Amino acid sequence: MTNSNIRVRFAPSPTGPLHIGGVRTALYNYLFAKKHGGSFILRIEDTDQTRFVPGAEQYIVDAFNWCGLTFDEGVTVGGDYGPYKQSDRKELYKSFTEELLEKGHAYYAFDTPEELGAVRIQYESEKKTFIYNYEERKRLRNSITLGAEETNKLIDEGSPFVIRFRMPEDETVIMNDIIRGKVEVNTSVLDDKILFKSDGMPTYHLANIVDDHLMKISHVIRGEEWLPSLPLHVLLYDAFGWEKPEFAHLPLLLKPDGNGKLSKRDGDRLGFPVFPLQWTDPKTGGISSGFREDGYFPGAFVNMLAMLGWNPGDEREIFSLEELTEAFSLERVGKSGAKFDPVKAAWYNHQYLVKEDDEVLANLLMPIAIENGYFVEIEQLVNAVSMVKDRANFVKDLWGQLDFFFVRPETYDEKAVKKRWKADSYDQMEELKGVISGIPDFTSENTEKVVKQWIEDKGYGMGMIMNAFRLVIVGALKGPHLFDIIELLGEEETLERIDQGLHEIGRKE
Ligand code: GLU
Repeated sequence: MTNSNIRVRFAPSPTGPLHIGGVRTALYNYLFAKKHGGSFILRIEDTDQTRFVPGAEQYIVDAFNWCGLTFDEGVTVGGDYGPYKQSDRKELYKSFTEELLEKGHAYYAFDTPEELGAVRIQYESEKKTFIYNYEERKRLRNSITLGAEETNKLIDEGSPFVIRFRMPEDETVIMNDIIRGKVEVNTSVLDDKILFKSDGMPTYHLANIVDDHLMKISHVIRGEEWLPSLPLHVLLYDAFGWEKPEFAHLPLLLKPDGNGKLSKRDGDRLGFPVFPLQWTDPKTGGISSGFREDGYFPGAFVNMLAMLGWNPGDEREIFSLEELTEAFSLERVGKSGAKFDPVKAAWYNHQYLVKEDDEVLANLLMPIAIENGYFVEIEQLVNAVSMVKDRANFVKDLWGQLDFFFVRPETYDEKAVKKRWKADSYDQMEELKGVISGIPDFTSENTEKVVKQWIEDKGYGMGMIMNAFRLVIVGALKGPHLFDIIELLGEEETLERIDQGLHEIGRKE
C-alpha cells in the first residue's frame, strides 16, 4: 500500500506486442510513481474489439515481469479501483454517456458509414476535407437536426447510432503539459469525436477519461501521439465537471537516423528488435525479434530505455532501477524526439555484462557450450569467462571469445601464419617445450617469468616468440593474456598444442 495521492497508470491496448516506446512510457510512469511513493497501475484498454489480438495482453504482462517493473494495482494484481480491464467495465460507461447527453455535451448521430463515405467522396472531389464538426453536423442526421421525437423513434426502431461529443464552436482550450508547457487550441479546428459506438462500447476517449477519473489518476504520462487528443479530454473533464489530472506527453522514439518515428515495422528490417520480447504473430506465424531473446539483460534494457528522452543532468549513464527512481523527474524529460541507437543499446548490455558475476555468466553460457558439443567443467568456464568478458556485449558472444580454452585449434589463421610464423619459429617452439615442461607451479606468473627469461637469455625477439606461441595455442592472434590461457590449459595440454601446431604448420622454408 502506498500513502500518497500520486496515482499513475499505464493503459495499453492489447492490439499486438508492446513496442519499446510503450515500455518507456510505462517505465517513466513507474519511476514517477515510485519516486513520490505513489501507485503504478496497469489498465487494459480493450474497447476496440476489432483490433483485439489474442496473446497481446499476456505479452504485456510477461514483458513487465521480465523488465522487473511491478504494478501496485491492475489486471494481474487487482486493487480497490477495479476491474482494470475496460471490457469488464462496459456497463459503467453508459451512465456517463447519458450524463453528457442530458447536459447537452453529446448527441446521437445516425449517419451510416455509407452516408458518411458519400459525403467524404463529394468533399474530396471539391478538394476539401470532411470533418464532422460544429458546421457539418447541421447538415447531417443527428439528434440536433432531427429533434427529440424523431430521435426517440429511430432509437426505438433499433436504428444503429453513435454518440458524439458536441465540440463547442470557437472556444480557446488552454492546456498545461508538464513537459511542453502551455498549449492552446481553438475548438473550431476540432471534430465531434465519437464517444460511444454502435456496438455498445465506448471509444478510447470516453473510457479513458471516465477511468482516469474513477481510478483517481493524478498524472497522465503518455506518448506524444496522444497530444492531439488532449483538448477533447480536457473538454470532457470540464463537461463532467471533474477535476483534471496533470498531463505529461513524452517525446517520440525516433529511428536511428532520426528520420521519423521508430515504428513496429522498423525492427527486424533495420536489424534490431523494437519489442522487449520475441513475438509470434498469431495470424501469420511471423516472428519479430525481442531484446530478451537477443540476449539483453533486463537491467541493461531498462537503463538504456530510461536514457531515451530523459537525462540526469550530469554525465552518469549507468543506473539501476533504484538509482533511476532516485534521479528521475519529469522536468528532465526532453521535448524533442529521442533517437534509438542500436550500437549504444549493445554498449549498455556490455556494461552490465562486465559487472555481472563470472559464475552467473558461466552458468548462462553453459547451455551454449553444450549446444556446441562441449561438456566443460563449470570452474574452467568461470575462469575463462573472467578473462574474456570485457570483449563481449552479449553472453552468446562469449563462447566465440573463449572456445579455444576447450577446443584445440582446428585451423591456424592463414594470414597470421604467413606474417608471424618465421623461419626460426619451428625450432624456437620446439625449444620452448623444453623450457616450460616441468615448471613446478604452472601458474601464469611462473610460466611468464620462465619464458621471458629464456627469451632474454637467448636474445630472441619477444614479439616473434609470443606471436608464434599464441598461434599454436589459440590458432589465431586473439585472446587474453597468453600466460593466463596456458595456466588454465595446464602443462600437458599446452605441450600437446605446441606439438600439434608444429605438426600442422610445419617448418617455414
Ligand atoms: N490505450 C492508449 C494506448 O494504447 C492509452 C493512451 C493513454 O495513455 O491515454 O496507448
